[in-house]
Amino acid sequence: MDPVRRPDIRPVASFDVIITGRGLAGTVLSETLQERGLRVRVFDMPRTGRSSHVAGGLVNPIVLRRAQPSWRASTMLAIAGAFYRELEQRYDERFWHPVNMAIIFPTTKDAGIWRLHVRDPLLRRLIEEGPEADPTIEGLERPYGHGIVNRCARLDLPRMLDAHRERWLGSGALVERTVEDNDIIHEEGGVRIGEDSAPMLVRCEGPFARIDGLSQVRGDMLTVRIPGLRLKSVVHRGVFLIPLGEDRYRVGSTFEWNDVWTGPTAEARRWLLDQVERMTGRSAEVEEHSAGVRPTSRDRRPLLGRIAQHAAVFNGLGSRGVMLAPWCAQHLADHVLDGVPLDPEVDVARFAS
Ligand SMILES: Cc1cc2nc3c(=O)[nH]c(=O)nc-3n(C[C@H](O)[C@H](O)[C@H](O)COP(=O)(O)OP(=O)(O)OC[C@H]3O[C@@H](n4cnc5c(N)ncnc54)[C@H](O)[C@@H]3O)c2cc1C
Repeated sequence: MDPVRRPDIRPVASFDVIITGRGLAGTVLSETLQERGLRVRVFDMPRTGRSSHVAGGLVNPIVLRRAQPSWRASTMLAIAGAFYRELEQRYDERFWHPVNMAIIFPTTKDAGIWRLHVRDPLLRRLIEEGPEADPTIEGLERPYGHGIVNRCARLDLPRMLDAHRERWLGSGALVERTVEDNDIIHEEGGVRIGEDSAPMLVRCEGPFARIDGLSQVRGDMLTVRIPGLRLKSVVHRGVFLIPLGEDRYRVGSTFEWNDVWTGPTAEARRWLLDQVERMTGRSAEVEEHSAGVRPTSRDRRPLLGRIAQHAAVFNGLGSRGVMLAPWCAQHLADHVLDGVPLDPEVDVARFAS
């Protein structure tokens, strides 16, 4: 017998999930949901100060100040590596570049502390002493030696974001427009934005969001040419120097908690160039200088979870977004779609006023 056809009481949702914002958070979430077979609509309008288009794309599992693993480093690394490699296959492009990081010790005391940490069982798989002759950082002065952080990577964010934009625009799933708060209509059973409706909206609006607990930190970043310097490892001494190949490097970054929306500043540029000169003994030609605003949180943990019956947030990726985003997307999807309890450490409700 045919199923009884009832007149529709509610309009049928055109999508399963609507996402606002397509930086790293929106990109990773949209791919995660689509892989689960869901119909996803993404709205995004590039805004000055957005973070992902400026970021260095570095994955570093160590908090260098304290020489400790970053929050849940092993889990985050494993999930991130698997996610981006799978994405590479889907797009038939290369985004994920495993690389080591050399930490140049500024003093003999720092070298001694590192040697102690290398013996720590928690760190043993992540860090080691640098060999005296290291061809990956040839030409760098290091009177006190260097340490190595293993299992780092560089995600080619510009390439990944461009590839995603092209595909999602091409399929009509991405609409480039700003969504104002009053464009979002909360209805019984879901939300509506213009013609599109879905039972769930996820706001991935980065530093532009207005949610309790979110704070903004500006960072300046340079792309430079340093002819003749042939680094193969990422190098850290005060700043990160990230090799891109063909004498090009990314240099970053600064941390500024005040006046975050100023855009790139001459002061930050000078400081970054001074750091490069001190590290390499060479001067750099600047190809590009940009600034973005990191969406961070007071306790340096992501901000995930529901903000209304049919709306959630995915934010607070801070300065380690590349490593955290794939786990966050999976966890948020498990929570809002399958009812898996939210990990209290990332629950946006912890800051609710
Ligand atoms: C200088 C610098 C260097 C960094 N380096 C690294 C690094 O090496 N490694 C690392 O892991 N992380 C790094 N980060 C951090 C990383 O950039 C962030 O963690 C991450 O990119 C945040 O992504 P997001 O999607 O939350 O925000 P964003 O990238 O800012 O994306 C938000 C998007 O939403 C859009 N949007 C917002 N509101 C609306 C609306 N109402 N309607 C439509 N569109 C909207 C915005 O225009 C934007 O496109 C760095 C950050 C900076 C600033």
